[in-house]
Amino acid sequence: METITLRIRLHKPTRTKDRLYRELTERTTALANNLVAAGRPKGLTSRTAGQYMPAPLPSAVVNQVIRDVAAHKRVERFRVLPPCFNNQTLRIQRAGDFWTASFPTHNGRVRVPLATTERQDRILEQVGKTVKQGAAKLYCKRGRWYLALSVTVPAAPCAGERVAGVDMGLRYLAVVNCEGETLFFKGDQAAYVRRRFNALRRRMGKAKALDAIRQMKDKEARWMRDQDHKISRAIVNWCLARGVGTIRMEKLEGIRNRRRRDRRDRGRSLHSWSFYRLQQFIAYKARLAGIRVEWVEAKNTSRTCPQCGHCGKENRNGIWFRCRSCGYHGHADAVGALNISRAISGLAGAA
Ligand SMILES: [Zn+2]
Repeated sequence: METITLRIRLHKPTRTKDRLYRELTERTTALANNLVAAGRPKGLTSRTAGQYMPAPLPSAVVNQVIRDVAAHKRVERFRVLPPCFNNQTLRIQRAGDFWTASFPTHNGRVRVPLATTERQDRILEQVGKTVKQGAAKLYCKRGRWYLALSVTVPAAPCAGERVAGVDMGLRYLAVVNCEGETLFFKGDQAAYVRRRFNALRRRMGKAKALDAIRQMKDKEARWMRDQDHKISRAIVNWCLARGVGTIRMEKLEGIRNRRRRDRRDRGRSLHSWSFYRLQQFIAYKARLAGIRVEWVEAKNTSRTCPQCGHCGKENRNGIWFRCRSCGYHGHADAVGALNISRAISGLAGAA
């Protein structure tokens, strides 16, 4: 079983609906902040929370706010607390060619069309059968409204017997190796785009265009996330086409307290590229496709000969790998991915 979040876009709402959602969000946020200001009173219910409500709210939403406030003990002020609906309050239904969601608001229940992706359709199709519906949050991002719906899906049946290794780096964001067959994702274009973003930001920094800089950062972050989605999707599809049942990746350490083990690690610091996120994307897409994910120790993967096992720094020369012992040679990143697929330094705990 796997719990994932579907970010489902609401089909462009009318102006009235847009205002309704905004009001609803303002009210849940105000209620949350009033509860915080009152010292998070205990034992409240939607009936007894009335005195903290600036304006009426549906009781199911109030109950969620009470729960959310209790769950975020350390928050002193909620900037926005999106209205949340549990699986009994939010109803998802098919209406001909599309899906609708209905949920309560302070102006009665509304039923709205959803702009789902094909993948979301497939999952929604199974709700109440193999997929379990969880809670959903209504939120706005860049002028569009979304429902973040959490669902629990069953693990798919095993996809195959073969094992693939995925290595990450800056020259190649990702290299996949399945029994010698490889797939490369070049990092140059990514580096180029990021340099351009950086240069633009610097120029704007001189002009003190802070809003524009923030927007540019958002844009870059979106672009990177999108790249991660595309690469991870391509990797999983490539693996499925080859009967891969297990994907192995190096266990990377956390963001700030990672120690630099060797020089090769430096370029892979998570500040440079979100390798951690890319791995997580690969992992969840793989699991949904029935591919097992295993984490291996990130040790010696780039300097060990896949043919004879000889390990040494000198085996590696930039982009090329050449074994000093047996003469085996190949692309260094492909060798890394191959060693990862074989888990030469052993499997790590869950990451
Ligand atoms: Zn060798």
